[in-house]
Amino acid sequence: MKTYIAPAPAEWPKLLERPLFNANDLAGRVQAILNDIKIEGEAAVRRYTEKFDGVVLDELAVSDSEIEEAIALVAPELKAAIETAAGNILRFHAQQATETRKVETTPGVTCWQKAVAIEKVGLYIPGGSAPLFSTVLMLALPAKIAGCKEIVLCTPPGKDGKINPAILFAAKLVGVTKIFKLGGVQAIGAMAYGAGPVPKVYKIFGPGNQYVMAAKQLISISDVAIDMPAGPSEVAVMADESANPAFIASDLLSQAEHGPDSQVVLVANSGNLIEAVQTELDKQLEQLNRADIALKALDNSVAIVLDSEAEMVELINEYAPEHLIISMKKYLEVAGKITNAGSVFLGNYTPESAGDYASGTNHTLPTNGWARSFSGVNLDSFTKKITFQEITEQGIQKLGPVIETMAAAEQLDAHKNAVSLRLKALTND
Ligand code: NAD
Repeated sequence: MKTYIAPAPAEWPKLLERPLFNANDLAGRVQAILNDIKIEGEAAVRRYTEKFDGVVLDELAVSDSEIEEAIALVAPELKAAIETAAGNILRFHAQQATETRKVETTPGVTCWQKAVAIEKVGLYIPGGSAPLFSTVLMLALPAKIAGCKEIVLCTPPGKDGKINPAILFAAKLVGVTKIFKLGGVQAIGAMAYGAGPVPKVYKIFGPGNQYVMAAKQLISISDVAIDMPAGPSEVAVMADESANPAFIASDLLSQAEHGPDSQVVLVANSGNLIEAVQTELDKQLEQLNRADIALKALDNSVAIVLDSEAEMVELINEYAPEHLIISMKKYLEVAGKITNAGSVFLGNYTPESAGDYASGTNHTLPTNGWARSFSGVNLDSFTKKITFQEITEQGIQKLGPVIETMAAAEQLDAHKNAVSLRLKALTND
């Protein structure tokens, strides 16, 4: 991790660059795969699964007997942990439901908005280097609460053609309807266009590596909606003298171990604190089984010393991290000034891992600066809002002249006529 002392704001964008592939090259490669899937369907999906995942599959769909066998393999302790986490995620997301409220905007003119579930949704569960069964809970539980009828799940198969048992246990627990052994661009393309047994869905959700993120962005141009760009993970930590260097190091490493293209950023008000964190990083790295991945991610990462709290806040808002940990004495006050972040963790006893697994908030979050404009996955992501209106005779008499005036000014005669005819009918009554 390189350290920078009091860099000028003009230098920040360069220091905070994400370690991603060239976007044009990546888009070209991913588009070529998507085109093949669109034209050839299942044949292309199978070919690319062999190429990128090194496996020739008999069936793309996971059978009921495979699910039953897998469930028997999951340790009771892990089953219990998944059930506890599912309970918290369910509680947090269920309270996000909003009531339909009717509003009389003018006497006799009543309008309301209703959240209606998206019927068919596709969930992508990353499985390249670590099978993220926690992501099954994060996506399928809000889909269930929203009332989505068809919940399709894709996740990459291992070299043995199997899916991690915990992913299948979690999927069964939360009521996923169909599961397919597909990863990467193949999975996104199959759910976007339909391929053999994989149905076309209306919206695709889930995090993934750069290929997955690029595929989601490309299919969203004209084929299917997506939740957001959720690519390689990031965390930023803001720390002052009240922070614990060992805790900070563990949080930075918990993101760094996701993948070599992950990034962590530490912003502190003292160089001594950064040195203490660095010592802890070296110590803790020795204990990690994914130390090689974490080391690569740390190469893309920075520690920055800034004098004032105001500058620290400004830098974080400019970076717009997926995850933000505030380990500062006045963490609540600082949190109030954060405008760009996916999910925020407050104080010394709120590790990011809590949100990754079990506290209840969603861990599918916008990366690469998209937290400036996107929210993480939530209950709303699985619904669309339909508006309704009902106008009485009294209502049209009151509002009609307003509409007529505006329609005439826009020279849309038919629009005006739709009101004028009704007003006339009422006058003739
Ligand atoms: P993954 O499932 O995202 O990707 C694996 C797939 O990538 C493979 O199945 C393969 O088909 C495809 N692939 C590999 N090399 C390819 C190539 N050269 N060309 C085309 N396709 C190729 O799993 P992963 O790789 O372990 O990545 C998971 C990612 O998810 C990590 O980057 C992690 O940081 C991120 N993540 C993000 C969030 C979030 O909310 N933003 C949450 C959790 C994880």
